Amino acid sequence: MSEIRKIAEEIKDRLIQVRRDFHRYPEIGFQEKRTSKKISEILDEIGLDVKTNVAKTGVVGLLNGSCKGKTVALRADMDALNVDENNTVSYRSRNKGIMHACGHDGHMSMVIGAAIVLSRFKRQIHGSVKFIFQPAEENIGGAEVMIRHGVLKYPQVDAIFGLHLWPYINFGTIGIRSGAIMASMDNFSIIVKGKGGHGAMPHAAVNPLIVASQIFQALQTIKNHNVNALNPCVISICSINGGISYNVIPDEVKMKGTFRTFSDHTRNKVKKRMLEIIEGIAKSFGAKYTLYFEKGYPVTINNASLVKLVVSSAKKLDVRVIQPNLSMGSEDFSFYQKEIQGVYFWLGVKKDKNPIALHNGNFNFDEDILPVGTSLLAECALAFLRR
Ligand SMILES: [Zn+2]
Ligand SMILES: [Zn+2]
Repeated sequence: MSEIRKIAEEIKDRLIQVRRDFHRYPEIGFQEKRTSKKISEILDEIGLDVKTNVAKTGVVGLLNGSCKGKTVALRADMDALNVDENNTVSYRSRNKGIMHACGHDGHMSMVIGAAIVLSRFKRQIHGSVKFIFQPAEENIGGAEVMIRHGVLKYPQVDAIFGLHLWPYINFGTIGIRSGAIMASMDNFSIIVKGKGGHGAMPHAAVNPLIVASQIFQALQTIKNHNVNALNPCVISICSINGGISYNVIPDEVKMKGTFRTFSDHTRNKVKKRMLEIIEGIAKSFGAKYTLYFEKGYPVTINNASLVKLVVSSAKKLDVRVIQPNLSMGSEDFSFYQKEIQGVYFWLGVKKDKNPIALHNGNFNFDEDILPVGTSLLAECALAFLRR
């Protein structure tokens, strides 16, 4: 067993204790105050230079090696979700309606683990390792705010590594691929404004429900008629609200949805077509509309040479590697990759034939994975600084 893996196994109880503490007190995006305090206490204890309140609740720890060299970053996301936990484990969530249902408690524990392991190699390290604990990965793009607060500077980061626990890949196997791995994400809302009236006299009204239903269907044609079938694209409308009565035509209908693509070209095309379709349909019915896109996430694109580095580090640690299918899910890790070279991979925690999905109130994982992820991250950081 490699030295790194041995240390990671030695500190396993600590990793579990840290993970369970985060799990017990989950906090949602930009509210990770307790989480932030815990992380900074541990990093202080290890002897790192610690910065707190980066992008509100973010924490950054810096480990300087004995000689000058490059700087590599390991990133963990900190936020939990508005999900009720159904698990009955002793460390189940104590914060009602909030749960670490996406495994970010595990990510933090593994990056802390890598900090503990690497601090023992301080003398052999040429360069620095930056440990980035980032708030608000889910939907709000905390990564971008961290970048704005200079997380990739002082010292300038040369490469960044991140991982996600993945219940869709066998336990202990990593899934990684060069180029795109996760989709771009754009959420949108549409308001269709008609003219309310009596259900028995629709000719005197403009029923926004009819307009909305046409828009709903027409938006689904974009991926067949405007996007090359070889370019993955998903457009999902997930919410439609309007009207409360049997016989009252409402004034307006609100719709919400998300779309995912794998290139800026497709992303821009979808936006353009959405606008044209909604405008055309609304106009033809005499309705008005507003279309609003929330700030989205770019495509997660892995640097090929860093992928090779992760694969060889995994081999060194006897970790199996597969090249998985792309995911239409998205990751704000992509913001770091727009600035510097980076690699993002999945660490399998699948044990059952029908695993429980991320974001489900029953999600949990076998904590034997924590030393695996810890050693992998530590090994990747060392391998990069040796290059
Ligand atoms: Zn998630
Ligand atoms: Zn996640």
